Amino acid sequence: MSRRILLVEDEPGLVLTLTDRLVAEGYDVESEGDAVRGLARGSTGNFDVILLDVMLPGGSGFDVCRTLRQRGIQTPIMMLTARGQVVDRVVGLKLGADDYLIKPFEMAELLARIEALLRRGSAPVSSPAVGETFRFGEISIDFRRAEVTKSGQPVELSAREFKLLRYFVEHRGAALSRDELLNEVWGYNAMPSTRTVDVHVAWLRQKIEDNPRHPQYIHTVHGLGYKFVV
Ligand code: CA
Repeated sequence: MSRRILLVEDEPGLVLTLTDRLVAEGYDVESEGDAVRGLARGSTGNFDVILLDVMLPGGSGFDVCRTLRQRGIQTPIMMLTARGQVVDRVVGLKLGADDYLIKPFEMAELLARIEALLRRGSAPVSSPAVGETFRFGEISIDFRRAEVTKSGQPVELSAREFKLLRYFVEHRGAALSRDELLNEVWGYNAMPSTRTVDVHVAWLRQKIEDNPRHPQYIHTVHGLGYKFVV
């Protein structure tokens, strides 16, 4: 069975060249030309590798990458970045991309990297692994569906609250500074203040703690930030 590649790229010439060559190599190739469609298509999980341009109409490839990982999609992702976006490389890998290639690249290089990603398979490479579901107390989190219940009742969390909760779960037991939470949950290009973290933690406590004034799970670490304990 052919391996399926999703190409998210907005330069028609490059889409044409890459598609021709990858098809000639025996791959099934589908392409999308903007961030929104790329995210939707990638979210199906129907691909073996995703080639993801960084500068896309409708959004950044980094955001697409991050959102795919948040949705539990573990398809290997190779970012395609323009020359000079060196800093992006680090950011991309941090957001859950598996590899990157700087344009213009040699086709042979691309093919070799794709094969390497396929060999590696879809093993999770991003954040510390948590299962598809995680339970503590009366709370149950379904990471794949991004759903939380408390005593069997749905808990409505914003995307940010969910991400914050996920980060807590993945780093349970660790003292997490407000700066770290800002970087990891809000992202490298966001500039909210650390006060933002406190506000969201307060909201999260309201939703998951039995007594938010005396939190059982999300503890305050004075002078630093928070610690999630289960
Ligand atoms: Ca582009």
